[in-house]
Amino acid sequence: MTEETKTATHFGEDVFGEEAINTYLSKETAKKLQATIREGKPLDPSIAGEVAHGIRHWAMDRGATHYTHWFLPMTGSTAEKHDSFLELKDGEPIMQFSGKNLIVGEPDASSFPSGGIRSTFEARGYTAWDPTSPAFIKRHSNGATLCIPTAFCAYTGESLDKKTPLLRSMQALDRSLKRLMKLFGRDEAHTACTLGAEQEYFLVDREYWKKRPDLVLTGRTLFGAPSAKGQQLEDHYFGTIPDRVLSFMNDVERDLWKLGIPAKTRHNEVAPAQFELAPQFEELNLASDHNMLVMDTLRTVAERHGFKCLLHEKPYAGVNGSGKHNNWSVAYGGRNLLDPGRNPHENAVFLTMLCAVIEAVDRHADLLRASVAGAGNDHRLGANEAPPAVISIYVGDQLAEVLDALAGTPGTAPHAPGTLKIGVDTLPAIPKDATDRNRTSPFAFTGNKFEFRAPGSSVCCSGPMTVLNTIVAEAVDRLADELEASGAAGRARPGEHTAAFHEALQKILQDSLNAHRRVVFNGNGYEAGWMKEAARRGLPNAPDTPAALAALTRPENAALFEKYGVMTTRELESRHEIFLEEYAKKVRIEGACARDIARERVLPAVRADYLETARALTAAAQAGVGQGTAALRETLAELGDGYDALKGGITALETALGADDEAAILSAMTALRRTVDALERQVADARWPLPKYGDMLFLY
Ligand code: ADP
Ligand code: MG
Repeated sequence: MTEETKTATHFGEDVFGEEAINTYLSKETAKKLQATIREGKPLDPSIAGEVAHGIRHWAMDRGATHYTHWFLPMTGSTAEKHDSFLELKDGEPIMQFSGKNLIVGEPDASSFPSGGIRSTFEARGYTAWDPTSPAFIKRHSNGATLCIPTAFCAYTGESLDKKTPLLRSMQALDRSLKRLMKLFGRDEAHTACTLGAEQEYFLVDREYWKKRPDLVLTGRTLFGAPSAKGQQLEDHYFGTIPDRVLSFMNDVERDLWKLGIPAKTRHNEVAPAQFELAPQFEELNLASDHNMLVMDTLRTVAERHGFKCLLHEKPYAGVNGSGKHNNWSVAYGGRNLLDPGRNPHENAVFLTMLCAVIEAVDRHADLLRASVAGAGNDHRLGANEAPPAVISIYVGDQLAEVLDALAGTPGTAPHAPGTLKIGVDTLPAIPKDATDRNRTSPFAFTGNKFEFRAPGSSVCCSGPMTVLNTIVAEAVDRLADELEASGAAGRARPGEHTAAFHEALQKILQDSLNAHRRVVFNGNGYEAGWMKEAARRGLPNAPDTPAALAALTRPENAALFEKYGVMTTRELESRHEIFLEEYAKKVRIEGACARDIARERVLPAVRADYLETARALTAAAQAGVGQGTAALRETLAELGDGYDALKGGITALETALGADDEAAILSAMTALRRTVDALERQVADARWPLPKYGDMLFLY
């Protein structure tokens, strides 16, 4: 990085990265630490003391007085428990931070969800430094805290967080790829999974937010009639960013750059008051941590600007929801394996990876679906603005032709069917643009990476990425098994593979494609016909969270995670339990909140309008005036009908809440919403107890 860039952006100044390491540590220690970071190995205990000492000095030079082990518990947010550097020694205050404090921490684990893992063991958990994600400084208005990214485990070693399985899945994919690439004659190298997470969000004025208990308590509006203008004009997407928002975005980016997060793109999204922030991609584990910090930063900076940042998947009905596209790829020895490449050898590797991903997604679409399940995303997936709940892959027409040619499918492709010879033919150029047009697919090939679009805006990337790495590791392994069994592999050097190797590979990929191509769908995912076609193809369709999470209880899935060392059956079971419970709790909170708003705010407003209308009627009769009384009577009847329906709806919701039945709660909420939203159009604007969509969605 040039001096110029650094001063312009303050990039990375709050991260204990290379420069800080070289400044605050001895040469020898710095070298050892760099090696640890590069290779993802545990820290050499002999240098821990000096590293801790150096980090503390660096952090204190930046105003930090406290430190925390920063981790990702199963709640889906981040956790921190601050300790000060201050210690009293013989009554004298000193600042201290030991190697032990750096390497492990012992937060009380008992209040974090553990899905039963904790109950039979000790309540204690511990956090362990993950040196591959550098320490950073988190600032607040009058101070700063040193944050050390850590994994969080029970005393038994079972993971209680979202980071540990991700790290394990990266190792699994690394092992499988090392095997496969060896068969391709490649020297052993470092596997780097990469992630670029595009973050969508809404902004709402804090004053409105405060007056909406549904936004405050649940993150989404449980009521609200559409405003006259929504997103019909399609004038918001990529439109001019309002000054107030731009100044917010500038602050967000400045804070992110300081944290070494390469925020790159910002623009208006489709819905009014909806925006997107996209960073440049980074190595997966770091990018996943960074996305958590992006969400954190969006939320805190919004406060400074009089906004609230809504990260819920569907804050408003009737306009688009928010997703988090996970752009994923994998590089080996610095070369992106999902880049088609320029020669037959690179093409062969690319096609193998492509087939591995297709096979993986087809075999385990249920797990991918489960990885994005949640109460919020249920309102987004399949809502004709976001991908359907059926997982399919979009590869684009050009690549579809290539696959036809590879699989030997007779058809109308310009390349004669079955004529693509691996190792001989060079792939036709696959224009990146042509692959990026279909926005309806949950999983799309976009030139040199896959874009998983089903994840919701609030999700922690680790979940979906853990699944993706693991299922691809399995597919890569299986293809490697077959290549090994063919006896044709392993003798050649890069570019010198025998015809036998290529023939064997061709046959293996053909078989894989023919077994798994049903998951490829290049059409419009919003068309009604696709759901039928998907069913005909036997693709799983889990319409809601409980159905999706059932994937975590299937023995074959438990066996997969066990085999690849990503999660034990108990760890998987605990996640099923935690996610299901989280879903139930969220739905119940929403139900109770909807009931309270309807009962305590809407009901009195309707009653007041009703009373006013009734009084007007009496007054007209007393005055002996007939004009207007027919209309008043009609209004009174309408309000009366609304009042009856409202009362009935509240009672029905109350019953559903009493029965602890989430599906019943959701359907009672939907019915109640219909009544309330209709009343919003009848009751006097001045009396309506909630800010309306038209107020909240237009920030200009
Ligand atoms: P757009 O979607 O606007 O056309 P891109 O597709 O180039 O832009 O980038 C979208 C996201 O994908 C960005 O965060 C980008 O850094 C990321 N990305 C690009 N290449 C890769 C890769 N090889 N691995 C992971 N993410 C990538
Ligand atoms: Mg994109």
